[in-house]
Amino acid sequence: MGGAISLLAVNFIIAQVFVVAFLVIAAKSQARLPAIWCAAGFAVASLSAVFESVLPFTPVPKFFAVGAFASVLGGFLLIRFALGLFYEVPAKLPHLAVFFAACVALDLMIYDLPRGTLQHAFFYQMPFCVIQASSAATVLRSERRSQADKILFWLLTLSAIYYLVKIYAAIAAGSGTTAADYLTSTFALISQALGAMLIVATGVAMLGVLVKEIIDEARASSELDPLSGLYNRRGFMERVAPFLREDGEDGPGTMILIDLDRFKLVNDTYGHHAGDQVIRQLSHVLTDLLPGMAVPGRLGGEEFAVFLPRFGMAEARVLAHGMRAALASARIDGLAESVRVTASFGVATVMAEETLEAALHRADKVLYAAKTGGRNRVECAEPPVRLFAASASRRAGNS
Ligand code: GH3
Ligand code: MG
Ligand code: MG
Repeated sequence: MGGAISLLAVNFIIAQVFVVAFLVIAAKSQARLPAIWCAAGFAVASLSAVFESVLPFTPVPKFFAVGAFASVLGGFLLIRFALGLFYEVPAKLPHLAVFFAACVALDLMIYDLPRGTLQHAFFYQMPFCVIQASSAATVLRSERRSQADKILFWLLTLSAIYYLVKIYAAIAAGSGTTAADYLTSTFALISQALGAMLIVATGVAMLGVLVKEIIDEARASSELDPLSGLYNRRGFMERVAPFLREDGEDGPGTMILIDLDRFKLVNDTYGHHAGDQVIRQLSHVLTDLLPGMAVPGRLGGEEFAVFLPRFGMAEARVLAHGMRAALASARIDGLAESVRVTASFGVATVMAEETLEAALHRADKVLYAAKTGGRNRVECAEPPVRLFAASASRRAGNS
């Protein structure tokens, strides 16, 4: 008995550690609600250790036995709810509550059935198996497929199988004929240890999923420009780099560099706030017109870039003209009704062996030409002669 009681104490303490860990994550992450529900789940489940340790000494064992069952079940259901929120496969609280009430009522009904029978083991373990299977299905049905999500999925699946196997194991190994006997059984010891290991592993996996979320959020915000919502220079460079390593038939793609015209004048005339509004508006114009695979970024100040993967010059030029016309006709909130803001565009096709900096430099040169040519214009760069010749001769060699 001592062994099982000490394990209960360890389980209880571990559950509290998880409660604290999930609350810390709730304070740091945007996944605040799922983390809070997870903390609540572990807090409720930990009560089972209290109920079970009182069980051998109380004159009302039924209350404590059912209490232990209900707290683990309640904890699992809260965690199922948390996973639903996090993975955007929501479970309805009233449904979970009805399931909980039905299972607790069932547990009360089977309480006087002899332990070690198939009926008792089945009705006792099945609810846990169902919830863990439902939690595993929640992870599976979501769009998320990171390593952490996969580990969590397999641990939840393993837990569901564990409760299924427990039905057979409870009969084969003997779990005591009364609830109080239960703690003296070898079954209790093995079951508590195995169950604890699985719960700890699943809890750690859930923490892992949430910590990964915090890291992803931090990385995303360090790569985004808060004013325009587009990638900042660093994010832009990182997103474009993989395309430059591709050596496809059509080349990596085409770069469009955009600079607002006489933007200083907008600031000076209407104020910095109105200037910010123009930057936001331009980012909307860009994102509305761009195809899904395009990478738009704000490289700094009032200078923007769009990388169009696998786009040739002709298609990119059409798109640049579309963006130029859309901005030039857009009414800007905060500016006088009649005022329009324009931008100049430099377009350069990125060559296979070219660095991003070199391509940006060529786009910048034609952007300058667009400025000196009168602004509100699109200018396109010729491919660099040496690189063009090299890639043409390579293509000829391949054919
Ligand atoms: P050009 O047509 O030759 O590009 O003229 P310009 O006035 O747009 O260019 P210039 O480089 O002289 O001025 C850029 C201005 O952009 C100066 C700066 O105050 C403004 N600017 C840069 N970043 C921001 C920003 O985040 N918000 C606002 N409101 N203004 C910005
Ligand atoms: Mg400018
Ligand atoms: Mg500029």
